[in-house]
This record gives sequence, C-alpha cells and structure tokens, in this order.
Amino acid sequence: MTDSEPGAGDREDPLTELCDLCGVVISDSTEVYSLVRDSSAIHAHDSQFDGKRMIVACSPEHLDELIRQFKRRPFVEDDLWAGKIARVMQQHPEGISVEALAEEASLNVAEVGAGVRWHNREFLRWPAEFGEGGDDRGDDDR
Ligand SMILES: [Zn+2]
Repeated sequence: MTDSEPGAGDREDPLTELCDLCGVVISDSTEVYSLVRDSSAIHAHDSQFDGKRMIVACSPEHLDELIRQFKRRPFVEDDLWAGKIARVMQQHPEGISVEALAEEASLNVAEVGAGVRWHNREFLRWPAEFGEGGDDRGDDDR
C-alpha cells in the first residue's frame, strides 16, 4: 500500500522571496527570516498569530535593520483589536451585533469600542494627512 517510489515526494519548488527592506528578489534560498511584534499584523484566520509579522530579508544585515525598524514602531493594542474586528466583519458582510462580534474576535465590548474608534481615527487621518486628490484646500478665507 505504501508507494515508496524515490522522487515522488521531493518536489522542492524553489521559492522566491522579496527582501522586506530592499526588495531584492531572493531565489537561491539564502533568505533569512524573523518574527517581529507588529500590532497591525493580523493573521487571515488564526488569531494566535495576530500581532506577529514574519519578515524576510536578503541578508542578516538587512534582517537586523528590519528588526530595528519594527522595534521603533509602537505596539498599539487598539490597532490589533481593530484588525481582529475587521477579520470578523469580513465574515459577516450582512452585519453582526457588537456582542457576537466581541465573542468572535475574543475581545470584550470595551475593546471592540476601542478598536472601532482606532479604525475610524485612522480612516479619518488618511485624507487629512495625504489629501483627497484636489489641491484647492478649502475656501474659508476670512
Ligand atoms: Zn535586502
């Protein structure tokens, strides 16, 4: 019943990766990985990986630089909660009660509130910082 034909199982597709720092294509398996804390990193479906980001670099030097950059970024719990909420919302396009949302996101209602406020703040901040395309900035000349 066992099929032990040599070569049947060794399909080692050469995976290409991109250095997260310099963007170089790494196709010779010399890339190096690390796991960093990142409050905006939300796993597609497994919450135990939330807040952790896998980074890949072309060299130990670039990996060190990436780790330094992530260490400088603040870990914001509201940001993490907002991501957890967004993941649950995606599964409920028809809408969901705040209690059910909290339960599915493994948060309490206060945390859901904080996450939603964070999301709304970020949502509002974007056009405020980067503009919405036009350069006629208001007509409040007084
Ligand atoms: Zn690099």
